[in-house]
Amino acid sequence: MSNSRTRANDASDFVCVHCRSNVPAQAWGTKHRNHCPICLWSRHVDDEPGDRASPCRAPMEPIAIEVRASASGEWAIVHRCTACRVIGTNRIAGDDDERALLSLALRPIANPAFPLDGFRPT
Ligand SMILES: [Zn+2]
Ligand SMILES: [Zn+2]
Repeated sequence: MSNSRTRANDASDFVCVHCRSNVPAQAWGTKHRNHCPICLWSRHVDDEPGDRASPCRAPMEPIAIEVRASASGEWAIVHRCTACRVIGTNRIAGDDDERALLSLALRPIANPAFPLDGFRPT
């Protein structure tokens, strides 16, 4: 596999590391898709300009939703590499599965670490 810069529209489709879906590289709202729109898993590659491509390439698990204050509430997915435990965030794409995004966002609410009874309005 070559790391040399390819033509602008030459982003290649990929097969999801987790659910094995075929993922087209082009999506609304993103020029370079880096996670699966169905299960939201990603892969540990580092293609930011100026960085060497990460040699890890292990699957990255979606662990949380981040709301970016600097981008008027835009959502990003927090990913953690299953091999080296590095944390990264990626903007959601226009065709990411909304139920998958919501279930990720609601995960701590669905499984609270403390009783919610004390929050009842008085
Ligand atoms: Zn997937
Ligand atoms: Zn990694």
